[in-house]
Amino acid sequence: MAGKDTGGPGGSSGAPAPAVIGPSRNTVHVAVLPGDGIGTEVTAAALAVLEPLAKRHGIGISTETLAAGAFHYQATGTAMDESTFRRAEAADAILLGAMGWPGIRQADGTEIGPQLDLRFRLNLYAGVRPVRAIPGVPVALADPRARGIDLVILRESTEGLFHSRGRGLVTQDAAEETLRITRAVTEKLSRFAFRLAERRAIRRGRKGRVTLVDKANVFRAFAFMRAVFDGVAREFPGVEAAHHYVDAMALDLVRRPWDFDVLPTENMFGDILSDLGAGLVGGMGFSPSADIGDEHAVFQPAHGTAPDIAGQGIANPTGMLLSAAMMLDWLAARGAGQGFADAATELEAAVDAAFANGLRTPDIGGHDGTAAAVRAVIARIGA
Ligand code: ATP
Repeated sequence: MAGKDTGGPGGSSGAPAPAVIGPSRNTVHVAVLPGDGIGTEVTAAALAVLEPLAKRHGIGISTETLAAGAFHYQATGTAMDESTFRRAEAADAILLGAMGWPGIRQADGTEIGPQLDLRFRLNLYAGVRPVRAIPGVPVALADPRARGIDLVILRESTEGLFHSRGRGLVTQDAAEETLRITRAVTEKLSRFAFRLAERRAIRRGRKGRVTLVDKANVFRAFAFMRAVFDGVAREFPGVEAAHHYVDAMALDLVRRPWDFDVLPTENMFGDILSDLGAGLVGGMGFSPSADIGDEHAVFQPAHGTAPDIAGQGIANPTGMLLSAAMMLDWLAARGAGQGFADAATELEAAVDAAFANGLRTPDIGGHDGTAAAVRAVIARIGA
């Protein structure tokens, strides 16, 4: 990618040569971490779709697959080696499947979570979780307006209640975790939210609206967050700014989700509300996500490793494919070139067209497994 040391074909010293998809000029370097369970299956699906897409748009994506996750922890005692972290950090973008496995736990009983470590170590404060109804995919609500659901939950991903992750105080009689909200991160998250709303407003042809989701009526930390958010809102007079308490938002995401646009919120609130959002538009298999910082970004589906269906070829790759589209779009915004933006638009459109034309994955009662879904999406590329 222009102006950055991408490692390029051949990679850094001593490592296996990365695979190159598409032309070698105009090439970005992507660290691929398939992880565990269906993470590996949906990652393979994404790479299969990226190949024809890259060719068609004249873009180069060199990929380097790196081992990390629960089974890596079981085999080596480390969920993600430091050298793997460094290679991921050096890449232009990181594409991640899913990590974790029941029964493979750390000594304190918590899950293996190198994806959380990536968020913290790379300062990926903006967890972008689009909730969009895909044409043809059944939605949870009977109201016809549910077909138009198109909102983004923006989960702060480096502080909040996750601040003391792994460091909470536990005694025989009590346990304590600390919620932390900082001015610096809240300002960045708020600016990210308003800029995202500005971009979406152009695409959707209507005024953008950012609604902070908090609990400012009970906690001083959230009153502080709200005050910082209000300060940033004044920088964006063209975007409507609002607030909503998190409990009321849980209610309204079921009662009238079509009324919302961009919803920045604290880490734990975002974790919970984004699963609620996924449930509105077909389930976990349809939910993409991106964890974005000022310099780095990780793109991964919102779902986990789904041990109940792993290895059966029935994982829905849609969340991962839409995450890959977000990656292409982010790379384009970072200067990778118009071809990346066009490829992102076409990938999202191909997913929509595949479902609109009858693709039905098993999680929505259909019979099209992962391979069939990949074929259906590839068939819409260039169609
Ligand atoms: P985590 O805590 O890592 O999010 P989890 O076990 O809570 O993991 P998932 O692994 O996302 O959650 O699985 C939740 C349910 O959704 C499971 O029944 C799983 O089979 C289903 N599911 C998740 N992702 C997909 C997918 N891509 N395709 C089909 N079903 C999926």
